[in-house]
Amino acid sequence: MFRLSQSQLKIIEECPRKFQHSYLELLATTASPEHQEKLAWGSRFHLLMQQRELGLPIASITQQDPEIGRCVAAFINTAPELFAASEHNDQIFRQAEHPRTLIFQEYLFTVIYDLLIAEPNAAKILDWKTYPRPQKSKWIAESWQTRLYLYVLVETSDYSPEQVSMTYWFVQLRGEEPPQKLTFSYNQTEHDRTKQDLTHLLHQLSDWRQRYTEGTEFLPQVEISANLCDSCQFATRCNRRQETTASSPNFATETSANWLPNLAIIDEISI
Ligand code: SF4
Repeated sequence: MFRLSQSQLKIIEECPRKFQHSYLELLATTASPEHQEKLAWGSRFHLLMQQRELGLPIASITQQDPEIGRCVAAFINTAPELFAASEHNDQIFRQAEHPRTLIFQEYLFTVIYDLLIAEPNAAKILDWKTYPRPQKSKWIAESWQTRLYLYVLVETSDYSPEQVSMTYWFVQLRGEEPPQKLTFSYNQTEHDRTKQDLTHLLHQLSDWRQRYTEGTEFLPQVEISANLCDSCQFATRCNRRQETTASSPNFATETSANWLPNLAIIDEISI
């Protein structure tokens, strides 16, 4: 059984060779200090929200880190209905860092919902994002996180696709702007499409892995024209640095434009 996550699906789709370097050859990559700091901040926020959901005190942490305290307070003020006490309502199940697993072909998917609120006829997946809301909601609607999280919930519960939804909250404050949210509903057509796309992608992956294991072929590289290599940590190994830096007049802007999605593909951290 091969474990896969939504971020790995994204990499397979973008560039199978990158998946080979990262997950078959286990080549280490390093994040910049700035990137690491953003990840650490995100982990602290998730931990705080989980502690709060469990009814544990969070004051000692928010006092040490006033910025995170400000974000938590603004989030709770913006969406009080989300945090209304539910302990007296035994019709509602809610859990922070709720894990679910699904076996699909020879692959094992594990998803972790930052918060799951399950009522008799509806279930909401909530996810905290600690980067700014993307300009285009289509990008996040089409992300493997959205698609896989919804798919797994329907496949592992009695809810129909029409009864589940996923909401992202972008919790890091920017000036006076309150936290923003994006909600995606779901339906049978989307569910079928995800199943079809997963089936196709995983068949391809199994085929590539088999040939790689037999030593006959590496996994395919993305086309240079996709402009993904210039910001990739494996550009030298793939012999792509020369072509992209020399031929791409937009090297600097492409790199910064790719940075946000790269942050977003990082797996959920199990706390
Ligand atoms: S440099 Fe390009 S081809 Fe190589 S792994 Fe990265 S994205 Fe893929």
